[in-house]
Amino acid sequence: MKAVRFFGLKDVRVVNDQEKPVPTGDEVLLKIGGAGVCHSDLHIIDEGTVSGVVFTLGHENAGWIEAMGPAVKGYKKGDAVLVYGPWGCGHCKPCQLSSENYCDHQSEMAFGGGLGLNGGMAEYLLVPSSRLLVPIYDLDPVIAAPLTDAALTPYSAIKRSLHKLMSDEFVVVIGVGGLGHVALQILRAMTGATVIACDITPDRLEFARSLGAAYAINSKDSDAAEQIKKITGIKKAKVVLDFVGATSTIELGAKVVSLNGDLTIIGLGGGKFSYNMMGLPFGVNMSNPYWGSRTELMEVVGLARQKKIHIEIEKYPLDQAVEVYDKLRNGKIKGRAVLIP
Ligand code: NAD
Ligand code: ZN
Repeated sequence: MKAVRFFGLKDVRVVNDQEKPVPTGDEVLLKIGGAGVCHSDLHIIDEGTVSGVVFTLGHENAGWIEAMGPAVKGYKKGDAVLVYGPWGCGHCKPCQLSSENYCDHQSEMAFGGGLGLNGGMAEYLLVPSSRLLVPIYDLDPVIAAPLTDAALTPYSAIKRSLHKLMSDEFVVVIGVGGLGHVALQILRAMTGATVIACDITPDRLEFARSLGAAYAINSKDSDAAEQIKKITGIKKAKVVLDFVGATSTIELGAKVVSLNGDLTIIGLGGGKFSYNMMGLPFGVNMSNPYWGSRTELMEVVGLARQKKIHIEIEKYPLDQAVEVYDKLRNGKIKGRAVLIP
Protein backbone atom coordinates (compact mmCIF):
# COMPACT_ATOMS: atom_id res chain seq x y z
CA MET A 1 0.00 0.00 0.00
CA LYS A 2 0.94 3.66 -0.38
CA ALA A 3 2.33 5.58 2.60
CA VAL A 4 4.11 8.87 3.42
CA ARG A 5 7.32 7.75 5.13
CA PHE A 6 9.71 9.73 7.31
CA PHE A 7 13.26 8.45 6.66
CA GLY A 8 15.20 11.01 8.69
CA LEU A 9 15.90 14.74 8.88
CA LYS A 10 14.37 16.55 5.83
CA ASP A 11 13.70 13.21 4.11
CA VAL A 12 10.01 12.44 3.48
CA ARG A 13 8.92 10.28 0.54
CA VAL A 14 5.67 8.77 -0.73
CA VAL A 15 6.27 5.03 -1.26
CA ASN A 16 4.10 2.19 -2.53
CA ASP A 17 5.78 -0.79 -0.85
CA GLN A 18 4.11 -1.13 2.56
CA GLU A 19 2.31 -4.33 3.57
CA LYS A 20 -1.37 -4.01 4.45
CA PRO A 21 -1.33 -4.94 8.18
CA VAL A 22 -3.43 -7.76 9.67
CA PRO A 23 -5.02 -7.02 13.08
CA THR A 24 -4.70 -9.49 15.97
CA GLY A 25 -6.01 -9.41 19.56
CA ASP A 26 -7.62 -6.02 20.29
CA GLU A 27 -6.06 -4.34 17.21
CA VAL A 28 -8.18 -2.62 14.57
CA LEU A 29 -7.33 -2.06 10.91
CA LEU A 30 -8.71 1.25 9.65
CA LYS A 31 -9.28 2.23 6.02
CA ILE A 32 -8.10 5.83 6.13
CA GLY A 33 -10.58 8.50 5.03
CA GLY A 34 -8.30 11.44 5.78
CA ALA A 35 -5.07 12.29 7.60
CA GLY A 36 -4.50 15.87 8.79
CA VAL A 37 -1.21 17.67 8.13
CA CYS A 38 -0.04 19.24 11.42
CA HIS A 39 2.74 21.76 11.97
CA SER A 40 4.20 19.31 14.52
CA ASP A 41 5.18 17.12 11.55
CA LEU A 42 7.39 19.99 10.36
CA HIS A 43 9.14 20.01 13.76
CA ILE A 44 9.86 16.29 13.15
CA ILE A 45 10.88 16.67 9.51
CA ASP A 46 12.88 19.91 9.73
CA GLU A 47 14.16 19.88 13.32
CA GLY A 48 14.38 16.15 14.13
CA THR A 49 12.16 16.18 17.27
CA VAL A 50 11.74 12.41 16.65
CA SER A 51 14.89 10.70 15.43
CA GLY A 52 16.46 7.29 14.79
CA VAL A 53 13.27 5.67 13.48
CA VAL A 54 11.66 5.28 10.06
CA PHE A 55 7.86 5.43 10.12
CA THR A 56 4.68 6.54 8.33
CA LEU A 57 3.66 10.10 9.20
CA GLY A 58 0.14 11.24 10.12
CA HIS A 59 -1.17 11.61 13.68
CA GLU A 60 -4.60 13.13 12.84
CA ASN A 61 -6.48 10.16 11.51
CA ALA A 62 -10.02 9.09 10.72
CA GLY A 63 -11.59 6.40 8.60
CA TRP A 64 -13.75 3.30 8.49
CA ILE A 65 -13.15 0.00 10.27
CA GLU A 66 -11.83 -2.51 7.73
CA ALA A 67 -10.95 -5.48 9.97
CA MET A 68 -10.67 -6.31 13.69
CA GLY A 69 -8.73 -8.70 15.88
CA PRO A 70 -10.86 -11.37 17.61
CA ALA A 71 -10.86 -9.51 20.97
CA VAL A 72 -12.52 -6.34 19.62
CA LYS A 73 -16.09 -5.88 20.84
CA GLY A 74 -18.77 -3.30 20.04
CA TYR A 75 -17.63 -2.26 16.56
CA LYS A 76 -18.44 -3.55 13.09
CA LYS A 77 -16.83 -3.25 9.67
CA GLY A 78 -17.58 0.14 8.09
CA ASP A 79 -18.03 2.09 11.35
CA ALA A 80 -16.66 5.66 10.99
CA VAL A 81 -14.18 6.51 13.75
CA LEU A 82 -11.49 8.94 14.82
CA VAL A 83 -8.19 7.64 16.10
CA TYR A 84 -7.15 9.13 19.44
CA GLY A 85 -3.53 10.11 18.82
CA PRO A 86 -1.38 9.91 21.98
CA TRP A 87 -1.05 6.17 22.47
CA GLY A 88 -0.21 5.54 26.13
CA CYS A 89 0.49 2.31 27.99
CA GLY A 90 -3.25 1.98 28.67
CA HIS A 91 -2.69 0.79 32.24
CA CYS A 92 -1.25 3.62 34.38
CA LYS A 93 -3.51 6.00 36.30
CA PRO A 94 -3.51 8.83 33.71
CA CYS A 95 -4.31 6.28 30.97
CA GLN A 96 -7.11 4.74 33.09
CA LEU A 97 -8.49 8.27 33.48
CA SER A 98 -8.34 8.58 29.64
CA SER A 99 -5.48 11.14 29.73
CA GLU A 100 -3.05 9.07 27.68
CA ASN A 101 -1.45 12.36 26.63
CA TYR A 102 0.08 12.33 30.14
CA CYS A 103 0.83 8.57 30.36
CA ASP A 104 3.37 7.80 33.11
CA HIS A 105 5.42 5.88 30.56
CA GLN A 106 5.60 8.61 27.91
CA SER A 107 9.37 8.97 28.33
CA GLU A 108 9.88 5.27 27.48
CA MET A 109 7.42 5.03 24.57
CA ALA A 110 7.02 6.44 21.08
CA PHE A 111 4.26 9.05 21.25
CA GLY A 112 1.86 7.26 18.90
CA GLY A 113 1.06 6.64 15.25
CA GLY A 114 2.80 9.21 13.06
CA LEU A 115 5.08 10.24 15.92
CA GLY A 116 7.58 7.39 15.93
CA LEU A 117 5.18 4.52 15.13
CA ASN A 118 3.37 4.04 11.81
CA GLY A 119 0.66 6.69 11.35
CA GLY A 120 -2.27 7.32 9.06
CA MET A 121 -0.81 8.93 5.92
CA ALA A 122 -1.40 5.61 4.16
CA GLU A 123 -4.23 3.56 2.74
CA TYR A 124 -4.61 1.65 6.02
CA LEU A 125 -3.61 2.19 9.66
CA LEU A 126 -3.19 -0.50 12.30
CA VAL A 127 -4.55 0.90 15.59
CA PRO A 128 -3.06 -1.02 18.56
CA SER A 129 -6.27 -1.08 20.62
CA SER A 130 -9.99 -0.47 20.10
CA ARG A 131 -9.76 1.70 23.25
CA LEU A 132 -8.18 4.38 21.01
CA LEU A 133 -11.20 4.73 18.69
CA VAL A 134 -13.91 7.39 19.03
CA PRO A 135 -17.07 6.93 16.92
CA ILE A 136 -18.12 9.90 14.78
CA TYR A 137 -21.53 8.60 13.65
CA ASP A 138 -22.77 10.83 10.80
CA LEU A 139 -19.57 12.94 10.42
CA ASP A 140 -17.42 12.43 7.32
CA PRO A 141 -13.98 10.99 8.27
CA VAL A 142 -12.25 13.21 5.67
CA ILE A 143 -13.52 16.36 7.29
CA ALA A 144 -13.35 15.02 10.84
CA ALA A 145 -9.73 13.78 10.89
CA PRO A 146 -8.21 17.04 12.25
CA LEU A 147 -10.65 17.01 15.17
CA THR A 148 -8.18 14.56 16.76
CA ASP A 149 -5.51 17.24 17.23
CA ALA A 150 -6.32 20.62 15.62
CA ALA A 151 -9.52 20.65 17.69
CA LEU A 152 -8.68 18.39 20.66
CA THR A 153 -5.51 20.27 21.64
CA PRO A 154 -7.09 23.76 21.82
CA TYR A 155 -10.21 22.25 23.43
CA SER A 156 -8.18 20.72 26.25
CA ALA A 157 -6.12 23.92 26.68
CA ILE A 158 -9.28 26.07 26.85
CA LYS A 159 -10.97 23.70 29.32
CA ARG A 160 -8.13 24.29 31.80
CA SER A 161 -9.07 28.00 31.83
CA LEU A 162 -12.84 27.79 31.37
CA HIS A 163 -13.61 29.17 34.86
CA LYS A 164 -11.59 32.31 34.02
CA LEU A 165 -13.24 32.99 30.64
CA MET A 166 -16.28 34.95 31.85
CA SER A 167 -18.07 37.57 29.73
CA ASP A 168 -16.21 40.51 31.27
CA GLU A 169 -12.79 39.02 30.47
CA PHE A 170 -10.45 39.08 27.46
CA VAL A 171 -8.64 36.12 25.88
CA VAL A 172 -5.74 36.47 23.45
CA VAL A 173 -5.20 33.79 20.77
CA ILE A 174 -1.77 33.95 19.10
CA GLY A 175 -1.51 32.10 15.75
CA VAL A 176 -4.65 31.52 13.66
CA GLY A 177 -3.53 28.38 11.81
CA GLY A 178 -4.71 24.77 12.06
CA LEU A 179 -5.12 24.82 15.86
CA GLY A 180 -5.79 28.53 16.35
CA HIS A 181 -8.70 28.75 13.90
CA VAL A 182 -10.50 26.01 15.84
CA ALA A 183 -9.60 27.63 19.18
CA LEU A 184 -11.53 30.74 18.08
CA GLN A 185 -14.64 28.65 17.42
CA ILE A 186 -14.35 26.73 20.71
CA LEU A 187 -14.04 30.03 22.60
CA ARG A 188 -17.15 31.35 20.83
CA ALA A 189 -19.09 28.14 21.56
CA MET A 190 -18.08 27.66 25.18
CA THR A 191 -17.19 31.02 26.72
CA GLY A 192 -18.37 34.60 26.91
CA ALA A 193 -14.92 36.18 26.84
CA THR A 194 -13.96 38.81 24.25
CA VAL A 195 -11.45 37.33 21.80
CA ILE A 196 -8.38 39.19 20.57
CA ALA A 197 -6.57 37.24 17.82
CA CYS A 198 -2.97 37.76 16.69
CA ASP A 199 -1.24 36.59 13.53
CA ILE A 200 1.28 38.02 11.08
CA THR A 201 -0.59 38.37 7.78
CA PRO A 202 -3.67 40.42 6.85
CA ASP A 203 -5.51 37.37 5.44
CA ARG A 204 -5.09 35.44 8.72
CA LEU A 205 -6.35 38.47 10.67
CA GLU A 206 -9.41 38.63 8.39
CA PHE A 207 -9.86 34.84 8.82
CA ALA A 208 -9.81 35.35 12.62
CA ARG A 209 -12.51 38.03 12.45
CA SER A 210 -14.67 35.71 10.32
CA LEU A 211 -14.42 33.07 13.06
CA GLY A 212 -15.57 35.30 15.89
CA ALA A 213 -12.54 37.31 17.02
CA ALA A 214 -13.72 40.76 18.11
CA TYR A 215 -10.25 42.20 17.45
CA ALA A 216 -7.33 41.10 15.28
CA ILE A 217 -3.82 42.45 15.84
CA ASN A 218 -0.68 41.91 13.78
CA SER A 219 1.82 40.56 16.30
CA LYS A 220 4.69 41.73 14.06
CA ASP A 221 3.77 45.33 14.94
CA SER A 222 6.34 46.59 17.43
CA ASP A 223 3.51 48.01 19.57
CA ALA A 224 1.31 44.87 19.46
CA ALA A 225 1.26 44.62 23.29
CA GLU A 226 0.21 48.28 23.60
CA GLN A 227 -2.56 47.73 21.01
CA ILE A 228 -3.86 44.79 23.06
CA LYS A 229 -3.69 46.71 26.37
CA LYS A 230 -5.60 49.58 24.75
CA ILE A 231 -8.45 47.11 24.15
CA THR A 232 -8.36 45.37 27.55
CA GLY A 233 -7.64 48.43 29.68
CA ILE A 234 -5.75 48.04 32.94
CA LYS A 235 -7.11 44.53 33.70
CA LYS A 236 -5.28 42.97 30.68
CA ALA A 237 -6.08 39.51 29.26
CA LYS A 238 -7.20 36.83 31.73
CA VAL A 239 -6.02 34.06 29.40
CA VAL A 240 -3.40 33.96 26.63
CA LEU A 241 -3.31 30.92 24.32
CA ASP A 242 -0.06 30.88 22.35
CA PHE A 243 -0.24 28.55 19.32
CA VAL A 244 3.21 29.59 18.10
CA GLY A 245 5.53 29.27 21.10
CA ALA A 246 8.35 31.45 19.72
CA THR A 247 10.34 33.68 22.07
CA SER A 248 8.58 36.76 20.64
CA THR A 249 5.07 35.35 21.17
CA ILE A 250 5.81 34.11 24.71
CA GLU A 251 7.16 37.58 25.54
CA LEU A 252 4.06 39.17 24.01
CA GLY A 253 1.88 36.89 26.14
CA ALA A 254 3.80 37.78 29.30
CA LYS A 255 3.24 41.50 28.59
CA VAL A 256 -0.53 41.23 28.13
CA VAL A 257 -1.56 38.53 30.63
CA SER A 258 -3.39 39.77 33.71
CA LEU A 259 -2.70 39.24 37.40
CA ASN A 260 -3.87 35.72 38.33
CA GLY A 261 -4.27 34.94 34.61
CA ASP A 262 -3.24 31.93 32.52
CA LEU A 263 -0.37 32.01 30.02
CA THR A 264 -0.78 28.78 28.08
CA ILE A 265 1.84 27.84 25.51
CA ILE A 266 0.69 25.20 23.06
CA GLY A 267 2.95 25.99 20.07
CA LEU A 268 6.22 24.07 19.92
CA GLY A 269 8.14 26.93 18.34
CA GLY A 270 11.21 26.43 20.52
CA GLY A 271 10.87 29.82 22.24
CA LYS A 272 12.69 30.71 25.46
CA PHE A 273 11.27 32.54 28.46
CA SER A 274 13.48 34.02 31.08
CA TYR A 275 11.58 34.25 34.37
CA ASN A 276 11.85 37.48 36.25
CA MET A 277 9.73 38.35 39.28
CA MET A 278 8.81 41.73 37.80
CA GLY A 279 8.39 40.34 34.26
CA LEU A 280 5.31 38.25 34.98
CA PRO A 281 2.29 39.53 36.95
CA PHE A 282 1.68 37.79 40.30
CA GLY A 283 -0.53 34.71 40.30
CA VAL A 284 -0.02 33.78 36.64
CA ASN A 285 -0.23 30.10 35.75
CA MET A 286 2.19 29.38 32.93
CA SER A 287 1.63 25.96 31.35
CA ASN A 288 2.53 23.88 28.32
CA PRO A 289 -0.35 21.46 27.79
CA TYR A 290 0.07 18.51 25.45
CA TRP A 291 -2.84 17.28 23.32
CA GLY A 292 -6.00 16.14 25.25
CA SER A 293 -7.74 13.11 26.75
CA ARG A 294 -9.86 10.42 25.08
CA THR A 295 -13.05 11.63 26.75
CA GLU A 296 -12.27 15.21 25.70
CA LEU A 297 -12.09 13.93 22.11
CA MET A 298 -15.64 12.60 22.58
CA GLU A 299 -16.70 16.09 23.70
CA VAL A 300 -15.02 17.60 20.63
CA VAL A 301 -17.03 15.22 18.43
CA GLY A 302 -20.14 16.52 20.22
CA LEU A 303 -19.24 20.12 19.34
CA ALA A 304 -18.64 19.14 15.70
CA ARG A 305 -21.90 17.16 15.43
CA GLN A 306 -23.78 20.17 16.80
CA LYS A 307 -22.00 22.28 14.12
CA LYS A 308 -20.57 24.57 16.79
CA ILE A 309 -17.08 23.97 15.38
CA HIS A 310 -15.79 22.97 11.98
CA ILE A 311 -12.37 22.62 10.40
CA GLU A 312 -11.56 24.71 7.33
CA ILE A 313 -10.20 21.94 5.10
CA GLU A 314 -7.96 21.92 2.04
CA LYS A 315 -8.07 18.40 0.55
CA TYR A 316 -5.05 16.90 -1.26
CA PRO A 317 -4.23 13.43 -2.61
CA LEU A 318 -1.74 11.44 -0.51
CA ASP A 319 0.72 11.55 -3.45
CA GLN A 320 1.12 15.30 -2.93
CA ALA A 321 2.31 15.03 0.69
CA VAL A 322 5.76 16.52 0.05
CA GLU A 323 4.27 19.56 -1.74
CA VAL A 324 1.67 20.01 1.00
CA TYR A 325 4.36 20.08 3.71
CA ASP A 326 6.11 22.73 1.64
CA LYS A 327 2.93 24.82 1.51
CA LEU A 328 2.50 24.51 5.29
CA ARG A 329 6.14 25.48 5.83
CA ASN A 330 5.53 28.64 3.79
CA GLY A 331 2.28 29.59 5.53
CA LYS A 332 0.19 28.76 2.44
CA ILE A 333 -2.37 26.46 4.09
CA LYS A 334 -5.48 28.19 5.44
CA GLY A 335 -7.05 26.09 8.20
CA ARG A 336 -5.93 22.47 7.83
CA ALA A 337 -4.71 20.36 4.91
CA VAL A 338 -6.02 16.79 4.83
CA LEU A 339 -4.38 14.04 2.77
CA ILE A 340 -6.72 11.54 1.14
CA PRO A 341 -5.38 8.15 0.07
P1 NAD B 1 -0.01 26.22 11.45
O1 NAD B 1 1.22 26.31 10.64
O2 NAD B 1 -1.26 25.68 10.83
O3 NAD B 1 -0.39 27.66 12.06
C1 NAD B 1 0.53 28.52 12.65
C2 NAD B 1 -0.05 29.93 12.59
O4 NAD B 1 0.76 30.79 13.38
C3 NAD B 1 -0.07 30.51 11.18
O5 NAD B 1 -1.32 31.13 10.92
C4 NAD B 1 1.06 31.54 11.20
O6 NAD B 1 0.84 32.64 10.32
C5 NAD B 1 1.01 31.97 12.65
N1 NAD B 1 2.25 32.59 13.16
C6 NAD B 1 3.53 32.23 12.90
N2 NAD B 1 4.38 33.04 13.57
C7 NAD B 1 3.62 33.90 14.27
C8 NAD B 1 3.90 34.98 15.17
N3 NAD B 1 5.14 35.31 15.46
N4 NAD B 1 2.85 35.65 15.72
C9 NAD B 1 1.57 35.31 15.43
N5 NAD B 1 1.25 34.31 14.60
C10 NAD B 1 2.26 33.62 14.02
O7 NAD B 1 0.37 25.36 12.74
P2 NAD B 1 -0.56 24.41 13.67
O8 NAD B 1 -0.66 23.08 13.05
O9 NAD B 1 -1.76 25.16 14.08
O10 NAD B 1 0.41 24.23 14.95
C11 NAD B 1 0.75 25.34 15.76
C12 NAD B 1 1.81 24.95 16.76
O11 NAD B 1 1.23 24.08 17.74
C13 NAD B 1 2.99 24.18 16.16
O12 NAD B 1 4.18 24.57 16.82
C14 NAD B 1 2.64 22.75 16.51
O13 NAD B 1 3.78 21.92 16.55
C15 NAD B 1 2.05 22.93 17.87
N6 NAD B 1 1.20 21.84 18.36
C16 NAD B 1 1.25 21.59 19.69
C17 NAD B 1 0.45 20.61 20.23
C18 NAD B 1 0.46 20.34 21.71
O14 NAD B 1 -0.13 19.36 22.12
N7 NAD B 1 1.07 21.18 22.52
C19 NAD B 1 -0.40 19.86 19.40
C20 NAD B 1 -0.43 20.15 18.03
C21 NAD B 1 0.36 21.15 17.52
ZN1 ZN C 1 -0.10 5.05 30.67
